[in-house]
Amino acid sequence: MALISSIMEVAAMVPINNLIKSVLVALASLQLTSDNYPQQATVYDGQNFDFIVVGAGSAGSVIASRLSEVTDWNVLLIEAGQNPPDFSVVAGLSAYLARTKYDWNYESEDDGYSSQSHKNKNIHYSRGKALGGSSSINFMYYVRGNKADYDTWEELGGQGWGWDNVTYYFKKSEGNQDQEIMQSDSADLHNSTGPLKITRPATDTQTTKYFEAFGYKHEILTDTNGHEQLGYSLPQYSIADKQRQSAAIAFLSPDTVKNRSNLFVLKEALCTKIIFDENKRATGVEVKLSSDKIISLYATKEVILSAGAVNSPQLLMLSGPV
Ligand SMILES: Cc1cc2nc3c(=O)[nH]c(=O)nc-3n(C[C@H](O)[C@H](O)[C@H](O)COP(=O)(O)OP(=O)(O)OC[C@H]3O[C@@H](n4cnc5c(N)ncnc54)[C@H](O)[C@@H]3O)c2cc1C
Repeated sequence: MALISSIMEVAAMVPINNLIKSVLVALASLQLTSDNYPQQATVYDGQNFDFIVVGAGSAGSVIASRLSEVTDWNVLLIEAGQNPPDFSVVAGLSAYLARTKYDWNYESEDDGYSSQSHKNKNIHYSRGKALGGSSSINFMYYVRGNKADYDTWEELGGQGWGWDNVTYYFKKSEGNQDQEIMQSDSADLHNSTGPLKITRPATDTQTTKYFEAFGYKHEILTDTNGHEQLGYSLPQYSIADKQRQSAAIAFLSPDTVKNRSNLFVLKEALCTKIIFDENKRATGVEVKLSSDKIISLYATKEVILSAGAVNSPQLLMLSGPV
């Protein structure tokens, strides 16, 4: 009986959740925090830039921000979505971001193998569609991955992907605000002054009680991103100052970045094709603007494709054989 009444309670909440989501999305359209992000760029058909970055997600926001540190370079960042909604910075509301206009709302196909326990044998596959990309709608766990994986990638030919090299960049990005981590044995793997601010929840006695009850007491780690990664620990989050630290907030919204005269951010612009020259070198992009007008923009140095794990390969396929 208790189970049935719990299920009914949850079911009764679904319409309320949808209502809350609709209200949040409607309020977000007021764009009350639009000043936090770079202004919309004005571009013209045939315009040249030094670099064109396609997709302003976790990767593209960082790349455009770093490239535009070089004042001699003009950098165009193209994003299909808009500014992230105001409520996306509230960590507790992240569940309301899926299945909105800030999500590409992909659904997987029934391939006869995966998702077979689901009623429709598919899953909803959220991908962020806004400045910050999926980092504007994700669950904010700050997890670097395992040293052995990076080193294996390098051994297999991924030059520059080894642990020592990527750790240099993790540290360059990171603004870890956790004193315990910064004074721990793994402090050499961290940095407290980078743009992406990281925190841990204040001691979570509920969770640590579970660790102890399960007998994991001796493997509790201070730092899952430390030298020893096998064990259990409280999570680290890309949350600081009580706000989500999306790639857009960390790398595009500081005044020193968003006001750069050499950084152009084109929002609500869908890249539909990468343009290649006769030597198979990417020289530009075709873009559908919010007005539906399609224009071509060119890069004298590089086109950088950072449209995410689904859209980057899709865009290459749409660009045709080279
Ligand atoms: C719901 C959810 C929860 C997650 N939780 C976590 C977590 O807790 N911790 C963690 O580490 N990772 C998490 N992830 C994964 C993580 O967020 C992603 O791996 C990461 O953000 C991917 O970065 P990216 O730059 O490759 O792509 P994205 O951040 O997705 O960026 C791609 C960008 O390109 C834009 N774009 C795509 N196509 C075009 C086009 N044709 N023209 C113009 N723009 C285009 C998109 O709108 C988007 O802004 C989560 C992801 C989701 C969806």
